[in-house]
Amino acid sequence: MPQEFTFNINPARIVFGRGTISRVSEEICGQGANRALVLSTPFQRSDADQLAESLGSLAAGVFSEAEMHTPMDVTERAMALFAKYGADSVVSLGGGSTIGLGKAIAYRNGCPHVAVATTYAGSEVTPILGQTDKGVKTTLRDPRVLPEVVIYDPELTTGLPVEMSVTSALNAIAHAVEAVYARDRNPVSSLQSVEGVRALRDALPAIVRNPADMDARSDALYGSWLCGTVLGTVGMALHHKLCHTLGGSFDLPHAETHAILLPHTAAYNAVAAAAELKDLAALFGGDIGSGLWEFAKGLGAPLALRTLGLDASDLDRAANLAAKNPYWNPRPVEQAAIRTLLEHAWEGRRPE
Ligand code: NAD
Repeated sequence: MPQEFTFNINPARIVFGRGTISRVSEEICGQGANRALVLSTPFQRSDADQLAESLGSLAAGVFSEAEMHTPMDVTERAMALFAKYGADSVVSLGGGSTIGLGKAIAYRNGCPHVAVATTYAGSEVTPILGQTDKGVKTTLRDPRVLPEVVIYDPELTTGLPVEMSVTSALNAIAHAVEAVYARDRNPVSSLQSVEGVRALRDALPAIVRNPADMDARSDALYGSWLCGTVLGTVGMALHHKLCHTLGGSFDLPHAETHAILLPHTAAYNAVAAAAELKDLAALFGGDIGSGLWEFAKGLGAPLALRTLGLDASDLDRAANLAAKNPYWNPRPVEQAAIRTLLEHAWEGRRPE
């Protein structure tokens, strides 16, 4: 039990369970709204159409152009459609990309946002919004960005391919790993982190064996809710900074980058934050870095940054960028040590 802490939690209405997609309409009405613009990526367009159809007159229309990193021009097109259709709310159906678009709209016009989360990335429970304008990404934190309602229906995640389920879940685990050593952690965020990681650790091997295993899908979504919640309440450190740098400056894919770097960043902080990481390390055989790496390998996750298209000649620049603007981390961020970390992650080596 820590001697001192400050406790903050974001307001949340979570509707969790199989078949809860059928409750979107009552949740829209519960927000005092009656004309929702349904959002998705092009890939999930047919699911969005189906949802809009089931909503009947509560659906104003569908906008299915959501993209990774919330480009401003996409948001502007969605805002224009929102106005044209006379919408008064948004329903985002998808992962972090679609939920990001819903957040960007709500940030601009204050409308209610019902998020239906279909990946494990956790964006739906954070007041954080990353947006890109002509390739430059900026991140803001604002209470207006937090969705009013989150629907977690595990049935919607059975279509998430196994590879994406694994990388998305490792992305969720990364939030919890950084949350347990966050400077502003509190007893509740640490409990949420350990329970979230436990649920994901237990669920993932079962999902890899059988992607339609509903109990495992339900546990994984439960774990991702807890891990996303701590992302939204306490500060992140080296791991998220590195992923942000690699994603933003080298255009690497979000979930895969998190999945590959996590064992290495956890190993980097393992000694400096040994006490804080103890419960999580115990879930992976006692050593957090190598334990996470073995876990990821066993699930068939990508292990090497070189497979994502990062060039060996980019490692120096990546290490420079990551060490450039100082930020808090349990172990000081030293450029040479980060260069070594990145090299190991690039090669796909098991962290020592
Ligand atoms: P994503 O939303 O980009 O989804 C990837 C692809 O998978 C998309 O084509 C999507 O339509 C599809 N997909 C999603 N769910 C599916 C399902 N159940 N079945 C089949 N296909 C499905 O992926 P993501 O990793 O969830 O989100 C990444 C984005 O979210 C990044 O831009 C990242 O920066 C952002 N993010 C933001 C926060 C935050 O708190 N602001 C947190 C996490 C991620």
